[in-house]
Amino acid sequence: MEVPQKVRGTQDWFGEQQRYYTFIKKVSRHIFRHFGFTRISTPIMEMRDLIVRSVGEHTDVVSKELYEFKDKKGRDLVLKPESTAGVMRSYLENFQNDPQPVYLFYIEPHFRYDRPQKGRYRQFHQLGAEIIGERDPVLDAENIHMAVKILQDCGVGEKFTLKINTLGNTKEREAYIAELQAFFRGKSHLLDEIDQARVEHNPLRLLDSKNPDVREILPYAPKLRDFFKKDSNEYYESVKSYLDLLGIKYEEDPTLVRGLDYYCDVVFECVDNSGRTQDAYCGGGRYDGLATSLGSKNPVPAVGFALGVERLIDSMVESGLYIINKDTIDLYFIQVGEEAKRIALPISVQAREMGLNVLASFGSPSMKTQLKKANQLKAKYVAIIGIMEARRGVCQLKNMEKGVQQEIKISELLDHMVEIVGEKNLDFYDPKKELLQGKKPEPIDPSAK
Ligand code: AMP
Repeated sequence: MEVPQKVRGTQDWFGEQQRYYTFIKKVSRHIFRHFGFTRISTPIMEMRDLIVRSVGEHTDVVSKELYEFKDKKGRDLVLKPESTAGVMRSYLENFQNDPQPVYLFYIEPHFRYDRPQKGRYRQFHQLGAEIIGERDPVLDAENIHMAVKILQDCGVGEKFTLKINTLGNTKEREAYIAELQAFFRGKSHLLDEIDQARVEHNPLRLLDSKNPDVREILPYAPKLRDFFKKDSNEYYESVKSYLDLLGIKYEEDPTLVRGLDYYCDVVFECVDNSGRTQDAYCGGGRYDGLATSLGSKNPVPAVGFALGVERLIDSMVESGLYIINKDTIDLYFIQVGEEAKRIALPISVQAREMGLNVLASFGSPSMKTQLKKANQLKAKYVAIIGIMEARRGVCQLKNMEKGVQQEIKISELLDHMVEIVGEKNLDFYDPKKELLQGKKPEPIDPSAK
């Protein structure tokens, strides 16, 4: 019988990969917290209808990439391909009476039945933000600012270009789409099958088509900008002026349309400068029409972004950036005989309480095998307690890097180790500092005087 393999396009994350992930989560959590955001997690499963109505029936994400299935009651469900739809669903249920806008962030796995390749997986992780309940160009600028800052703080600030564009409002876009379709219908002999389908169902995607024939005729196609009225132009100019105020550099790219249907007005992407195919680290924009397309009676303006964690990690690795490894073993106990074991067990417990990372070898292999194991695990120090040492209340403390060894009293071992490791490098977490008991504090009521 063969051992089952992991599902194609998925990855096991351990060791170094986990360190990058934890670091990226930490960096983004701090930035989000500074900007006043709180975290939300929506379910991995959503109703298919939610995703179709949000992302758009004819987008690649819905028409080709959905993981969809029926549950035992025949409901149509999907594994979420992105989180904005779920967050908006939750907003409509839980957040409408909160002070507006509501600032939410997420760090979640997503699923798309994509062709697996570097930078493109079937299970991938996105961290993202949504500012829901207010329309103001300042919020668009802040949204972009956060995405840029996360990339900068993760050390890849020089590796990407921020591209921005505006899609105008629904009416303007509809008028434009009709003209664009008319233009391309006259040239369908130049289009491949995919682009022919796009003309009918998702014409804006023709603007970022990779097909060279399409790219050649694009300069002659109608321009979206020509369909904008004063408001859309002013909104775009305003977002740009706030970006200027924040000192954020950007390039304007009229072909940037994003792959999902819910966007309007200002959209953006941070793309890798190296010109590789999977080039977008993150993208986002305004999506004022989403709530109403989900059935909300009131329009709910919103803006957000999503950043691909795997692509960011790849880029950090390529740049030679790595994360300090805190999962190191400060002290490894090697013991021989029952008496030594009875000394090593309680002292290893005590050592952990003092903030040291400690592993003890409690089987009964030979001293040589235990030392080899300590070496493989890259333990910094090894305390050897043999039969004689146990009787005399001492141990042999070996510095594994230097290979030097000294005898030390067991009663002095831990203070000595704390001194060597250094107070600031001790690993402390006191759950009691955050875990409180008693009456829950009243939620803050913003309407209270
Ligand atoms: P989107 O939700 O399509 O706007 O994607 C936002 C970001 O998520 C992209 O810029 C990528 O960094 C990342 N992303 C999207 N799809 C995948 C995928 N299949 N594998 C890895 N990362 C992805």
